[in-house]
Amino acid sequence: MSYDVAIVGAGIVGAACAASLSASGLRVLVLESNDVATGATAAGMGHIVLMDDSEAQLALTSYSRDLWNEFADELPPEAEYDHCGTIWVAADEAEMLEVRRKQSVYTSHGADAEILDDLALRKLEPNLREGLAGGLLVEDDSVVYQLCATKFLLERASRYGAKIQTGVKVIEISDDGVKLESGDVIAAGVAINAAGPAAVELSPQLKIVKRKGHLAITERYPNFVRHQLIELGYLKSAHGSDKDSVAFNVQPRSTGQILLGSSRQFGVDSNEIDFNILQRMTSRAFEYMPELKTLSTVRVWTGFRPATPDNLPYIGKIAGCENTYAACGHEGLGITTSLGTAELLTSIILGKKTAIPIEPYSPSRIITEH
Ligand SMILES: Cc1cc2nc3c(=O)[nH]c(=O)nc-3n(C[C@H](O)[C@H](O)[C@H](O)COP(=O)(O)OP(=O)(O)OC[C@H]3O[C@@H](n4cnc5c(N)ncnc54)[C@H](O)[C@@H]3O)c2cc1C
Repeated sequence: MSYDVAIVGAGIVGAACAASLSASGLRVLVLESNDVATGATAAGMGHIVLMDDSEAQLALTSYSRDLWNEFADELPPEAEYDHCGTIWVAADEAEMLEVRRKQSVYTSHGADAEILDDLALRKLEPNLREGLAGGLLVEDDSVVYQLCATKFLLERASRYGAKIQTGVKVIEISDDGVKLESGDVIAAGVAINAAGPAAVELSPQLKIVKRKGHLAITERYPNFVRHQLIELGYLKSAHGSDKDSVAFNVQPRSTGQILLGSSRQFGVDSNEIDFNILQRMTSRAFEYMPELKTLSTVRVWTGFRPATPDNLPYIGKIAGCENTYAACGHEGLGITTSLGTAELLTSIILGKKTAIPIEPYSPSRIITEH
């Protein structure tokens, strides 16, 4: 049996690509070595967020966020889609400058963003400590339970005729299709590498490194937090520093639980919990929200973000290949940008005009690290 498209990886990016390509009438096969949504996707926080680290990041997150907001009505209740908004929290006047800069960039790109003073901030989030300077409310950001969203995308792909095979490891990806660990070769017109942090094992020309993160989740405390809250210092942490970093980042879940992040570490392969990092991460959170100290945590886990040197994903044809494409390297924004990635890649493969310029995400771009 041959396919129009073979996708390696059933994380949220592979699932979104499968849904989009099969809806366009292509015969799609998804091959997953483990189980659906068990890689980086399982570890993520599910925050759908507008980010402006670069023009290209803003374009992709904005396009993708619009797609999520359109998709929201179709998602099942288990996907826990919550249009809760984000508040970027400013600790002092210096960070308020960043609030104003961010607001100006967002609004000039047509996105709503409201500056909050200290009183407005405390009114919206009474559990934040007193004495913070203010913040930026981005109302159109959301939260999703990405495991259910991934399964839903794959169910949709199946309804359009896609085949999903789990427990099948791909050992080679080429212009003719894919080779499995069993030795079988599956012919496909197009092969897509959506293997997340492992994408580089199949396509060594891509530069992707693993960036470890820790998350913790509490018992149920409804209304303790109402928006996704992130300190502005998160931007420095996410920006690509090679040092270990932590930032205050909490999220209300529709169950009433609170998801607590976040940390970033390069050069660590072990998925074990690093208690030093965990302690730094929770201490940082307590500085912003002292009452968090009194809540019980039920689980802590780690995961690996697939990071590229310029913080932009690879979307498009891989250098030196005819029919092999990349949809990987989404670092800490793969849940947000999965839907945009899938639509862009579908347009590229079908030779259609893309909704936003694709050059910044080209796998053969020349990358200047910043
Ligand atoms: C702590 C943490 C917090 C995060 N928070 C957010 C957030 O709030 N918002 C956001 O947008 N993003 C967030 N992210 C990032 C997001 O989770 C990832 O960018 C995204 O899940 C990447 O999805 P993916 O499908 O590319 O990779 P994955 O989910 O890793 O999927 C790749 C799949 O490929 C399979 N695979 C690998 N090699 C092979 C092979 N050879 N053959 C067959 N299958 C193979 C793997 O088993 C895996 O299932 C976070 C990540 C972490 C770690």
